Amino acid sequence: MAVKTAAEYIESVKALNPKVYVAGKRVENMLENPTTLSVIRATAKVYDLAHDPKYKEIMVPASHLTGEPINRNLHVARSNYDLDMRAEMALLTSQKLGTCNYRCVGCDTLNALAASTWEMDKEYGTEYNTRLNNFIKWAQANDLACSGAITDPKGDRFKRPSEQDDPDMHLRVVEKRDDGIVVRGAKVSQSGAIGAHETIVLPGGALKPGEEQFAVAFALPNGTPGITYICQYTPYTAEREAAESIEELGNPEFGQRETSTIVFDDVFIPWERVFLCGETKYCGRLVARFAKTHRMNCGGACKVGYADLIIGASKLASEYTGLQKVPHIQEKLIDMVRISETSHACAIAAAAKGVEEPVGSGVWMPDDLFGNVAKLNIAHGFWEIMKMAGDIAGGGVVTMPSERDLENPEIGPYIKKYFKSAAPAEQRLRVIKFLQNWVAGLHGAGTWHGAGSPQAQRVALQFLTDWDAKKQLAKDLAHIKD
Ligand SMILES: Cc1cc2nc3c(=O)[nH]c(=O)nc-3n(C[C@H](O)[C@H](O)[C@H](O)COP(=O)(O)OP(=O)(O)OC[C@H]3O[C@@H](n4cnc5c(N)ncnc54)[C@H](O)[C@@H]3O)c2cc1C
Repeated sequence: MAVKTAAEYIESVKALNPKVYVAGKRVENMLENPTTLSVIRATAKVYDLAHDPKYKEIMVPASHLTGEPINRNLHVARSNYDLDMRAEMALLTSQKLGTCNYRCVGCDTLNALAASTWEMDKEYGTEYNTRLNNFIKWAQANDLACSGAITDPKGDRFKRPSEQDDPDMHLRVVEKRDDGIVVRGAKVSQSGAIGAHETIVLPGGALKPGEEQFAVAFALPNGTPGITYICQYTPYTAEREAAESIEELGNPEFGQRETSTIVFDDVFIPWERVFLCGETKYCGRLVARFAKTHRMNCGGACKVGYADLIIGASKLASEYTGLQKVPHIQEKLIDMVRISETSHACAIAAAAKGVEEPVGSGVWMPDDLFGNVAKLNIAHGFWEIMKMAGDIAGGGVVTMPSERDLENPEIGPYIKKYFKSAAPAEQRLRVIKFLQNWVAGLHGAGTWHGAGSPQAQRVALQFLTDWDAKKQLAKDLAHIKD
């Protein structure tokens, strides 16, 4: 079936056998470990949304390669409408999960590759685009979850890949064979890769002649020999491990944005899965295409979905404490909406102003300037939103007792008595715990760095802004003559 159900996805996970570690221990069954299970649950929910008639338009386009209905996470944008629906999917999945759509980065890597492989084939007569389309058709037919791997460990950030003491700081080709290539290195902060069927790997950034060994893009099945996944470990992992029931957690079913470091220890990739190998000239453009697509979706839609959850919970918290009519609370809630919808508007603009790139390829890319502004604005705005949510929630957001205390026959009555306000203690504790997950959690730094740290967007805006045109406008009105 082309559009898998959540149950079919979970069944397919049972056949995966990745080498996964959490806190130094091998995970034998991803459906039993509480952290890896949260990734599987979240990914399953994304499959589920594609079967909800309400979200069909957003989640299920027709493949441009086969005409068949497919999950949008495997779609290559062919129009401004497609870009708009792609951003809508990011918004929807964040609203429904409160964590990553773990198929999101993979989708954006496929779009960037669709544009760049087409261009490379034209210049070099390579067959990268044909290979990519074959891969996409197969992934669509089997509705495979794809994660996206771009971020290298990078070592000394001041040195180029070729200048590092250890050349493995950027993933690289160590051998070329008749039947494929062998790669070595790692990719860090990989969202949901453990639960994806495939990982799409891109180079970490622009490269120069002489750096051909680092210029490589390919698709890699989960559990390929030589691959190890080392999961992130945070206080939230420990909390989930210690929980007696997921109901006592801030985001019970779907948890945190879980990532892993993927180690590639001399991994063989057959040629039919290689989409770039040695073409340094195209790496910068490929990564820039990924970045503009991902920044539109991540900054202007995904985080807006998170903000919707925080705003909703803050409004509830104010009602539960009887403060909903207080002017400074209302003002803060409006400010939260202002910040998040400004980024949302940038995503809509990025989609509306998107163009076919490269011309003739049939691939649509969002407007670069608006995509970058969406991400930069939300990177700053998200902290502001969380600051205001923390204010409205009160100190309890970091001092609250556990929901388990409620169930204790001796102290439960105290909790019920002293945490009751305009709403029962149970509701109040639940909404505060939900907000704690955001304002005292991992999402601030996650939003700051995900899709590239803000300095990357500032550099992009420096180049994308037509400073001369702006200066001329000022000169014209002020009657300044050179
Ligand atoms: C929650 C989350 C999910 C993620 N998911 C994915 C994923 O699925 N796939 C993926 O590939 N990546 C993913 N990432 C990685 C993300 O893209 C990176 O975190 C981001 O690009 C920053 O890289 P870094 O973490 O190595 O930080 P660094 O590059 O170390 O940045 C730290 C600081 O140093 C600055 N800096 C770095 N290098 C230089 C330089 N040369 N000159 C000047 N300043 C510099 C940066 O601007 C920043 O201020 C994820 C990250 C997070 C937080």
